[in-house]
Amino acid sequence: MITSLLVRHPAPYPTESLLGYVLRVSEGNGYSSPWSVYHLAGLKSHEMRASCVRLEKLAGITNWPEERLDAIAYSAPPGQPRWSRLLGQPVLPQDLNLSHPRFCPECLREKGFLEAHWDLALMVACPIHRCLLVSSCPECGRRLRWFRHGLLECECGGDLSGCELSSIPEAEASLLDMIRRKALSSTAHTSNPMSLPQDQLMAMGLRSMLLAIRTIAKHRILADGTGDSSKTTEIVSAASRVLVEWPKNFIALLEDIGRQLPADISGGVGKQFSGIYWGLLRNKAMGDSKQTEFLRVAFLDFATNHWGRGFVDHKIIQNLGRPGSKRFLTQTEFAAKIGVQQSTAARLLKNSGLSSKRVKCGAADRIVVDTYELSIPTTWPGKIYRVREAAKRLGLSVSLLKSLKAEGIYKVGHLLPTRPGFHELDLRYFTKKLLNLNPLHGPSAVRHERTVTLQSVLCGRRDSLEIKLSAVRAILTGYISVLGNSDATIGGLVIDAAAYEQVVDHPRKKLA
Ligand SMILES: [Zn+2]
Ligand SMILES: [Zn+2]
Repeated sequence: MITSLLVRHPAPYPTESLLGYVLRVSEGNGYSSPWSVYHLAGLKSHEMRASCVRLEKLAGITNWPEERLDAIAYSAPPGQPRWSRLLGQPVLPQDLNLSHPRFCPECLREKGFLEAHWDLALMVACPIHRCLLVSSCPECGRRLRWFRHGLLECECGGDLSGCELSSIPEAEASLLDMIRRKALSSTAHTSNPMSLPQDQLMAMGLRSMLLAIRTIAKHRILADGTGDSSKTTEIVSAASRVLVEWPKNFIALLEDIGRQLPADISGGVGKQFSGIYWGLLRNKAMGDSKQTEFLRVAFLDFATNHWGRGFVDHKIIQNLGRPGSKRFLTQTEFAAKIGVQQSTAARLLKNSGLSSKRVKCGAADRIVVDTYELSIPTTWPGKIYRVREAAKRLGLSVSLLKSLKAEGIYKVGHLLPTRPGFHELDLRYFTKKLLNLNPLHGPSAVRHERTVTLQSVLCGRRDSLEIKLSAVRAILTGYISVLGNSDATIGGLVIDAAAYEQVVDHPRKKLA
């Protein structure tokens, strides 16, 4: 069936635009238009449409296997008849611009062929040369067509390489660079000077990434109230303004949307911001929920820290965080995680300054705990002593140890605060803290009448618990200086007798 073969049939590049390839082949063979190539291949005019071009016929005249051309074809991927492809990645037909070719002449000169990312509707400028693209002929002024003389030659003979191109902002260039790299399946740029959510967007599929960019842009343009959300140049400009310095400008967008809501609005934040919420956070077309987590985290950040009205819907909090360890927990989930009652969890969160946010929920409040920012109290491996044994180990009385713990002088760090007992690591820490007060570090023989041992101070029957507590406090704050240690135990600490007398004198007199 195949009768003809082109004289010159260069191989398609793996990242080449298929339409660009046909034009390159046409020019290389001296034809005045790709029409001749299609004609030679025996394609009928309806078969020349880019999305359904008969590859086997093209393969016949270029002498390259059909698979080689299929790798850069736009036709629907298997099982997705309404979709298209770009370099093998599924996209929707509206993501592509196959009818009005645009490209960067500088890139074309450097590469020698048209890269496939120019076939994307959002590629409105060149991220490498920071310039707008050639889309019409400088000679005849007509829009570029694929049926032209050559890659850089209009059908009127006009030279397409001599265009003067205006430059684009860095934010737009960074966004387009990311789209280009995604389309060509190359890695993300190592630097990210505009602080885009680059890794997160690059982790999405090409279609989801383009959808996220379009959705974000649409809401920026709507909030601005000016501009045309159907123009690709405006989409790229608006999206880049939101995505730079992530998530700052995304939160600013949500604030702008919020300002336009009725003043008395209440209810779920997701419902209040339903447009962007459903479009970005609950949209299945956005792909795997893991990959859109950065959007939900930013939205939750806004809802909890910037938006004073309404409550955070449970659905937003759900599914955040790594598998098995959600980032944001409700108070109930937090209580369950650390194994305490709700009321205990509430007290813990209130007293310990753990990272939790109070989120309005109608008349009531809801607490959201950010587990990335807190170390959830947990019981460490190790021995847990009963109070009698722990007191004996420290050389203190049971009542004094209990008071030290109640006053927070003895710190609980390796045990759930609600769990009774004394963890060996906490005991060790407390002991070390006191022993480190000894400037001589180790046993020493400083014993004279102006000193007294901690043992005699804390185990004496003369003073009350309060006086003993204030003595320990004064030692820890350095008000009573430690001069040495007689036996390397807490009780052996040798302290300044005069300072001690001064500390206990006042309460003693008061009690007397
Ligand atoms: Zn360029
Ligand atoms: Zn022209």
